[in-house]
Amino acid sequence: MSQFADRRVFLASTTLLMGAAYMPGCAKGQTETKRFAIALHGGAGQSPKEDTAGAVMVSLGKALDIGVDVLKQGGTSLDAVEQVIQFLEDDPLFNAGRGAVFNAAGQHELDASIMDGKTLGCGGVAGVRTVQHPISLARLVMEKTEHVLLATDGAEKFADEMGEKIVRVKNSWFSTKKRQEELEKAQKAAKNKQANIHSTDLYHSTVGCVALDSHGNLAAGTSTGGRTNKNYGRVGDSPIIGAGTYANNATCAVSGTGLGEQYIRHAVGFNISARMAYLKQPLKDAVHEVLYKTLDPDDGGLIAVSSVGTIEMDYTTAGMARAAADSTGFREVKIGR
Ligand code: ASP
Repeated sequence: MSQFADRRVFLASTTLLMGAAYMPGCAKGQTETKRFAIALHGGAGQSPKEDTAGAVMVSLGKALDIGVDVLKQGGTSLDAVEQVIQFLEDDPLFNAGRGAVFNAAGQHELDASIMDGKTLGCGGVAGVRTVQHPISLARLVMEKTEHVLLATDGAEKFADEMGEKIVRVKNSWFSTKKRQEELEKAQKAAKNKQANIHSTDLYHSTVGCVALDSHGNLAAGTSTGGRTNKNYGRVGDSPIIGAGTYANNATCAVSGTGLGEQYIRHAVGFNISARMAYLKQPLKDAVHEVLYKTLDPDDGGLIAVSSVGTIEMDYTTAGMARAAADSTGFREVKIGR
């Protein structure tokens, strides 16, 4: 064996022995890498009202099972994230895809993004109006273009070019009675100056998912209709890489939910990753710092998974619909504390 080969074997075995201790995000008791880990959210705000809480929990559980199945079979974190979010986009209980909120003009403009922690490849779409699964269009932006974010007419045209890969629907397909009522209530309250898009008395129900797969790769994705009664053309944090969505194998994967303007202003996803990279903070501390010290109370919540499979799900609102599981058998579905 040459001297160099010798040295490589030595380095490789030391890294194997010591690797876990040097993994970013490894605080005491977090040294073991999990084979896979996944977390998802169904939005922050008030907890869903009693009449829908049960149904939300059932849906979160089903979405979690979809992601766990992909990861158990050795699938990629990107596939798990996309499939979980597709499922939630089709469920009218959530503010993504069907069931999306109305903007002030009485229409639906959808935002989504996805990021691959291995390559830092990412894609987002903003203000799309006829795409059943905005998360899948975001993935195609990542995989088929040189760009990171396509918006409105350009994103719709890109969807045309993708042909059968992207299912198209009428804008009214996203509408539900419940969202129509929420719009009417919000517009009445806004007229009396009682509320803005940061209304804290609503369950906002954006969706997101983060995952670590058995190949050691992280991914994150987020999808939303935005905020009820938002301005026509308003873009939130969900399609913005570094704000609502971020993933980097060196640190963590994050998906946020809350007042998008705040998440953009404070680059929430990247901020958490940067704290881990530069300050060597464990995931828990980085999340805590950003949620409780950088953002304002009641701004929202987030889910995150580190490169060793540590899961964090926290929020400063009254509740956040969320679920998580990992390869050790841990499983949780919750909407309140
Ligand atoms: N963050 C989303 C937005 O501002 C909404 C939410 O998560 O409730 O568009």
